[in-house]
Amino acid sequence: MPQLNSAEAPFEVITRQAKVRRLEVRRVERLTPHMVRVTFGGDDLHDFETQGPDDDFRIFFPLPGQERPTLPQLGEGRGFIWPEDAPRPQNREYTPRRFDPVSRELTVDFVVHGDGPGSVWADTVQPGGYAGSVGPRRSRIMSPEVTEYLLFGDESALPSIGRRIEELPAGVNVRAFVEVAGADEEQQFEARANVELHWLHRDGAEPGTTDLLAQAVRSIETLAPYTFAWVAGEANSIRPVRRHLLGELGLPPAWLRFTGYWKRTIPNWDHHEEIPE
Ligand SMILES: Cc1cc2nc3c(=O)[nH]c(=O)nc-3n(C[C@H](O)[C@H](O)[C@H](O)COP(=O)(O)OP(=O)(O)OC[C@H]3O[C@@H](n4cnc5c(N)ncnc54)[C@H](O)[C@@H]3O)c2cc1C
Repeated sequence: MPQLNSAEAPFEVITRQAKVRRLEVRRVERLTPHMVRVTFGGDDLHDFETQGPDDDFRIFFPLPGQERPTLPQLGEGRGFIWPEDAPRPQNREYTPRRFDPVSRELTVDFVVHGDGPGSVWADTVQPGGYAGSVGPRRSRIMSPEVTEYLLFGDESALPSIGRRIEELPAGVNVRAFVEVAGADEEQQFEARANVELHWLHRDGAEPGTTDLLAQAVRSIETLAPYTFAWVAGEANSIRPVRRHLLGELGLPPAWLRFTGYWKRTIPNWDHHEEIPE
């Protein structure tokens, strides 16, 4: 692990061979009105690995009327080889919320927001259903010396934020700001770390249209030395958070992870796309 240094990211990235898996739906639970927890099982999970709370993997959904999605083989680089005679499934990125290597069960929390193959599938799937996946291809392993965390996100980032809160050890300080539709979308987490969790309610506003996260970051006057900040959610809503952290609060860029998890009005937003200032 690197010594803490504001010029270097306080995490190590480990990579692993991608693998395509068939996932069997074991349980479906509505955590809150707009968050559905799906627990997957199946033999293909015997070697599933997820070491970082912001790991992500791609889930393939069956097309309407299909029981199981067609799955690809891995091709060169990040490419897939698809059977020529079968329709290709839709796919989206998700966070492994929890993986139990003993029961080999994988939990994923899906935001049910309306249109979109991921949202529609999660809203209607039943135990016994099928999906597919590829990844996670990499994990960020935080230096254990980091003791100050600042987290910002909306519902799409809540699986990662919740997982991080649950996994961080005692002695670590976490301040998290999470934008949700309202009080009935709040979740509870068990934590060993000292956690200060602020729920920001949209109170009827559309997701991706408020400045709640921007207001929240402006309420912070100073950062403790060596604070790691993690920001994810709707691409435009999180831009002012980055600006304030790097500008007014002087956060070193290497200590910020900033990812647009989705973009309003754009289906299947590519989170690798640059989000300009
Ligand atoms: C690394 C990473 C990890 C992620 N982890 C999770 C996760 O664990 N759980 C999760 O639910 N999402 C997660 N997301 C976000 C998810 O990939 C996107 O929200 C995705 O667009 C959902 O696909 P869809 O088929 O439901 O909607 P799409 O077909 O992609 O979009 C259809 C319409 O819905 C809008 N839309 C998309 N997402 C949302 C949303 N969350 N709220 C409101 N409107 C939306 C789009 O702007 C578009 O207008 C993650 C994204 C990334 C990049």
